[in-house]
Amino acid sequence: MSLGEPITRTSAEVLKNAAGSASLSVLDARVADCYACPRLVAWREDVARIKRASFRDQEYWGRPIPGFGSEKPEIGILGLAPAAHGGNRTGRVFTGDRSGDVLIAALHRAGLANQPTSVAADDGLRLEHTRIFAAVRCAPPDNKPTPEERDTCAPWVHQELRLIRPTLRVVVALGAFAWAAWWPAVAAVYGTKAPVPRPKFGHGSEVRQEGVPILLGCFHVSQQNTFTGRLTPAMLDDVFGRAKSLAGLA
Ligand code: SF4
Repeated sequence: MSLGEPITRTSAEVLKNAAGSASLSVLDARVADCYACPRLVAWREDVARIKRASFRDQEYWGRPIPGFGSEKPEIGILGLAPAAHGGNRTGRVFTGDRSGDVLIAALHRAGLANQPTSVAADDGLRLEHTRIFAAVRCAPPDNKPTPEERDTCAPWVHQELRLIRPTLRVVVALGAFAWAAWWPAVAAVYGTKAPVPRPKFGHGSEVRQEGVPILLGCFHVSQQNTFTGRLTPAMLDDVFGRAKSLAGLA
């Protein structure tokens, strides 16, 4: 993955190397060479070494996960962080796990993905009008990054948002963590203050601010939500139909 880009080892270097990334390809390469969060680096590498029994013959990616999808998206999908045996294994966000199955199937139904499955980085999946990126780029233990890790990683997603700013119209926040991660981006990327008090996360909630993409809330596509019926395929269809409409694509 590396294009001879600098290796990032501190939060100050995250800030500097993210801000200096003039294209998505440079940003992607730099993200993949980030080692700024010691706990997450140890975890992602431990998971990659120990592996899940069913994947023991596979080589895990075991590194940070760049964004994926269109380079000129109208719709952004902001997730929490990669899954230990999903993105951390396959090297692509929402790929190789049940959450990815649910999300990509919904994007396919909405006409935003060329196929309904996401199993490996070389499986031919293409997203139309859409880019997926996570607030934290390394798989965290128990899917819970610390506030410090969230803040350390933020410059990567902020720079990604700057690079796609010309076309981006709507951001779908998957879950409360992604919703909360949006507000620092409003200030850092769009130079606008977040509303006070902060709008509460809710499935289907929308926030509009002048000069800022519309924020649309969606329950996370986690197994906890999809297995229990808290989030159904019909609910996802409504969200992505709404996102397309807000983005002028429907
Ligand atoms: S979580 Fe983000 S800042 Fe921390 S090591 Fe991973 S890519 Fe770097």
